[in-house]
Amino acid sequence: MNQEMKIPQATAKRLPLYYRFLKNLHSSGKQRVSSKELSEAVKVDSATIRRDFSYFGALGKKGYGYNVDYLLTFFRKTLDQDEVTKVILIGVGNLGTAFLHYNFLKNNNTKIEMAFDADPKKAGTTIGDVPIFSMDELEDRVAASDIEVAILTVPAGPAQTITDRLVPMKIKGILNFTPARLNVPDQIRIHHIDLAVELQSLIYFLRHYGTEDVEPSQLGEGIE
Ligand code: ATP
Repeated sequence: MNQEMKIPQATAKRLPLYYRFLKNLHSSGKQRVSSKELSEAVKVDSATIRRDFSYFGALGKKGYGYNVDYLLTFFRKTLDQDEVTKVILIGVGNLGTAFLHYNFLKNNNTKIEMAFDADPKKAGTTIGDVPIFSMDELEDRVAASDIEVAILTVPAGPAQTITDRLVPMKIKGILNFTPARLNVPDQIRIHHIDLAVELQSLIYFLRHYGTEDVEPSQLGEGIE
């Protein structure tokens, strides 16, 4: 396997999906898996799976499929899942609160370490073991930690101002759940998840295509 090889971004985004499924297979004692089985489980077409896997040298054998242990070792290394990655959350409203209750550790090694909110009634409280601090403490708390990722669940209005505060800090990645399109310098990576848009898009696809297969390019290849 060539560790130096660059994996395409669309492939990299599917890795956690594959990883989760393979871990379940492994714990149920399965040694091998076919691209067809994988395809049905993770809802990615098997041609895409074969191409994805070929990037890291996993060449499935006809009639055998892929070796589960080999794939798991690769994913563990690539996704750096041996260590818990800590993240912060900003905006403890309805969505933020749901995330604080959600156990990310169950399926992958990420953990919301602390949360921040402008509401003085929320600062100083704890939700699902996660302490909530006032926005005044943002810079100091993050500087004292080794956290590089932030989840943004504030309203769209203050999203850019908050992002501008995150830029000079050590934050390298932002998972943006606000509808706002954020401007950041090149060294910061933003993934944007607009739940309302995703829901609308699902409804659009259902109306126009029903449940029939769509081109692989529409199943994630085009996602930025
Ligand atoms: P809630 O019912 O708790 O208000 P919500 O999801 O409807 O939840 P939103 O208006 O979307 O509320 O705000 C989400 C959270 O973001 C709230 O807890 C709010 O206090 C917080 N918030 C709003 N503005 C800021 C800001 N500038 N900085 C940090 N947090 C903020």
